[in-house]
Amino acid sequence: MTRKSIPAWAVAALLLSTPAAFAQKTYLHCGQLLDVRSGKLLSQQTIVVEKDRIVAVQSGYTAAGGPQDKVINLENRTVMPGLIDCHVHVEGETSKDNFVKEFTQNPADVAYEAIANVNKTLMAGFTTVRDLGGSGVNVSLRNAINRGLVVGPRIITAGKAISGTGGHMDPTNGYRLDLMGVPGPADGIINGPDQGRQAVREQYKRGADLIKIASTGGVLSVAKDGSAPQMTEEEIRAVVETARDLGLAVACHAHGAEGMKRAVRAGVTSIEHGTLMDDETMKLMKKYGTWYVPTITAGKSVADSAKIPGYYPALVTPKALAIGPKLQGTFGRAYKAGVKIAFGTDAAVFRHGVNALEFGYMTEAGMPAAEAIRSATLSAAELLGRSSDLGTLEAGKLADIIAVEGNPLQDISAMMRPRFVMKAGVMYRQE
Ligand SMILES: [Zn+2]
Repeated sequence: MTRKSIPAWAVAALLLSTPAAFAQKTYLHCGQLLDVRSGKLLSQQTIVVEKDRIVAVQSGYTAAGGPQDKVINLENRTVMPGLIDCHVHVEGETSKDNFVKEFTQNPADVAYEAIANVNKTLMAGFTTVRDLGGSGVNVSLRNAINRGLVVGPRIITAGKAISGTGGHMDPTNGYRLDLMGVPGPADGIINGPDQGRQAVREQYKRGADLIKIASTGGVLSVAKDGSAPQMTEEEIRAVVETARDLGLAVACHAHGAEGMKRAVRAGVTSIEHGTLMDDETMKLMKKYGTWYVPTITAGKSVADSAKIPGYYPALVTPKALAIGPKLQGTFGRAYKAGVKIAFGTDAAVFRHGVNALEFGYMTEAGMPAAEAIRSATLSAAELLGRSSDLGTLEAGKLADIIAVEGNPLQDISAMMRPRFVMKAGVMYRQE
């Protein structure tokens, strides 16, 4: 329709109407609403959404205010804030041929797979994820989702993760000599504090939202050791200080206690996995206010996959069997010790979309269901530095709202039954 063809009366009506007076509101009638602060269920509540924000939460079922408003019936559901997984890798997913894929996939192939991964994640009720490392496709995917080109959760990404030569994040581990080359700071590989600073600035320049390092070995890298320290405290400190100057948090992968202690003392924001965390490390984390992101699901699934002959390269299998099964016990001890915990799964190490399995493992290890859900909402938002927008259902916050079938406080498996997903006021799932 061209401008000329708009009738005069329509133009007048458009001019007379103020956007506020005619803004469409959505009223969500919630049978049960989980207040993640108190851990209590409130029955018969209405959440009022306008554009991308929650504008009110009211007791009882509020009727629509005007003909343009919409009412959504969630009277048989348990409604809660959109879930946040603080440790995923959007670019990849476990498979027997993962190592070969490094040589066969173009960035575009990675991107198409990543789109499928994030789709599943959003439909599972995770409206925000913290992506802790990939090739750079993660940054582009974040931008595409923000622009509305791709359906997926809000992504906060570390770009390419950082470690030392031969360390957990060295992209050429396990290659034959002529393919290994000498990856440097631009590839996330550092030796010495100066290179640490450079690597952080490289990731900042490429659009990373935070920095991810590995201060110890890891399970899935094709290298012998899975838990010994792989960065000096000086290197970690240089990374943390540079990141802080740029307004970036630092997430640190660590399995062994020594590498964890160095990272905590150097001021990292979170310890990821933390498998062999000892009492001294827990004390140190409490002292420094360091978050713990446990990823129990990843631990269990690598141990399972390692039992399938030939699933992993030979160097990986023994590490998976030794480290994987220990995570849940560590989580239980850290919870009892009072370490701050934010929900994270390491989805990619297992298939995307079943992230909510972690809730079951957390409660099995002694954390009450309401606290497990709090770790994936209120606490996760705090770890991300996004408390003003995310993590609770309160007026002024982004309308990231999900609903599950059943009562997760009585049966945590309800978290595996998402029936409604809204992100920033846009509905993606409703059953
Ligand atoms: Zn990871």
